[in-house]
Amino acid sequence: MRLLGLPAGYRAPRWGPGAPARPSQRSRTAELRSAADAARPGAPRVWALSDLALWCADADPRYAIDVSEVLTRETRLLGNRRLKTWAQYVHTVAVMRAEREFADPYRVLSGLRQQFTALGWPVAAAWCDYSGGIALEHLGDPGGATVLIDRSVPVFREHGDRIGEARALNALGYGESSLGRHEHAQVCYQQAADLAIAGGCPAALSVARLNGAENATDLGRVALDEHRPDAARRWFDLAEAELVKLAELASVLGHRVLQPIVAACYGAVLHYLGRHGEALAACDRALQLAETCDSPKAIASARGFAGQVYLALGDPDRASALLTAALEHYGAWGLHMDTARTLRALVDAKEALGAVGEAYALHKRLLAVELSLRDANVQRENEVIAARLERAGELATQHSRLSRQNTRLEAERRALERLAHTDSLTGLANRRHFDAQLARLAIRSELSGRPLALVLIDVDHFKRVNDQFSHVAGDAVLGRVAKAITAHCTDRQLAARIGGEEFAVLLPGRGAAEAAATAERIRGTVARLVLDDLADGLRITVSAGVACGPPGGAISGLFSAADAALYEAKQSGRDRVVRSAYPVAT
Ligand code: GH3
Ligand code: MG
Ligand code: MG
Repeated sequence: MRLLGLPAGYRAPRWGPGAPARPSQRSRTAELRSAADAARPGAPRVWALSDLALWCADADPRYAIDVSEVLTRETRLLGNRRLKTWAQYVHTVAVMRAEREFADPYRVLSGLRQQFTALGWPVAAAWCDYSGGIALEHLGDPGGATVLIDRSVPVFREHGDRIGEARALNALGYGESSLGRHEHAQVCYQQAADLAIAGGCPAALSVARLNGAENATDLGRVALDEHRPDAARRWFDLAEAELVKLAELASVLGHRVLQPIVAACYGAVLHYLGRHGEALAACDRALQLAETCDSPKAIASARGFAGQVYLALGDPDRASALLTAALEHYGAWGLHMDTARTLRALVDAKEALGAVGEAYALHKRLLAVELSLRDANVQRENEVIAARLERAGELATQHSRLSRQNTRLEAERRALERLAHTDSLTGLANRRHFDAQLARLAIRSELSGRPLALVLIDVDHFKRVNDQFSHVAGDAVLGRVAKAITAHCTDRQLAARIGGEEFAVLLPGRGAAEAAATAERIRGTVARLVLDDLADGLRITVSAGVACGPPGGAISGLFSAADAALYEAKQSGRDRVVRSAYPVAT
């Protein structure tokens, strides 16, 4: 494969805002299409169509879904399960990228991953991980996204799939830069670009270059904020150099989505470099290109960047219109970094226009986005670390299994792991797991400002149950109470047995009133339990204490507040729920 589809003897013209279009240049879409037309039937034709569909999914969304449908039809006739499943993968990615539809594709990709694994095709399973990760990023689960993509990297590497590895590194770089680790991100993008060149994949190369340029611009901006103009200048120069190369590439390839994004990004960099006239021209060109490319992402990027440049050049009217339009797209996709950047500029634009009320409302929205961005980043960090540890553990056990051929150890390890989290009598989470979750959720709540509620539940006069009816009956009662508690908890709430006859429920995102209502439902259910099958005349009640950490409050006192409320419930007659006033009633 010729590296980037450049014709022999091709000399790059200087790219600029006014560079002429080159209709004589055959686009990569056309090139891949004739390769597919010329391919022999069977696997060669499937791969050629697959290349074309995946290219279009990024670069030419007009055709992506049509091509993937042709591919699906043709593989149906071939009777080869692997190729048929691959066609489903390609179709799913085409829909996801071209229509920016993520929830259903994510579910399909999870299913396909299992099928590929069952078919003994780990690289295809890794592609499902990669694309599933992209879907999760857009669905607002950055932690899950990075975990999936992280998992694909060693598989791509082991099987020498440099394009897969390049794609995954691009995505990991995005995660790094959203965590503010722009230097790390730059390394990811550079590695991705090297791999894409080695693998001969212009699509992956262009993503690496674009991400690298955007990230270098961010680094430049950070340096400006920190009053390091020389460093800023170096980053902007680097960004410009990358964008010039990228614009060449996008134009040679006929990459319809990339061209407007590059032009807009270029406009922003030129503006930082003080070349205002060129910056405006580049932005206008970006807007023109965007209108004809069928890509909402490109349209949003062009408007977002152009809006920032117009704002900086003293045209808040135009800026405000462009930024508002960009925001509509970003808001709908949940792209926090872009949303925050655009909102920030829009607040300034509204202030410049004297629309103080609107500016204030937008500022509040910006704060909310920044908080959820922070929350998402904490989630990304936590889950990635947990997954890496788990994988290290898995590798270690695999090793011991291989070296000793001993599967018993593995079973024991799993049992121990379950034991480590679970209370054996009731099957609820145990104290250890509860404590760890409380600490984790408290941090999240502090960062996000979302409330976290805690309910403590204690069985009333439980000693009497043991004394009157036996310890065995007592144990069975604890099982029934546990069931009554879980019946009122959702998947997002954690029920635990934290002591002999003491239970707790953690309710992230719930205020004290909602938590008290849950506690009240649990109390009522327990009071109505008929336990005659355990012992004649056996009835029990529980008391509960409820506390809630409000936004911004110190959450460390949450447990003792709930405990004090529980004590009050006991003191005032049992079989009741008491809500703590700590720190405020929500
Ligand atoms: P109160 O209403 O004040 O909570 O009275 P109580 O009797 O429930 O409280 P106390 O703390 O005096 O007694 C708790 C009893 O729970 C003591 C202990 O024998 C019993 N217990 C603790 N763990 C278990 C267990 O796993 N199984 C059984 N059957 N009993 C247990
Ligand atoms: Mg007790
Ligand atoms: Mg008790």
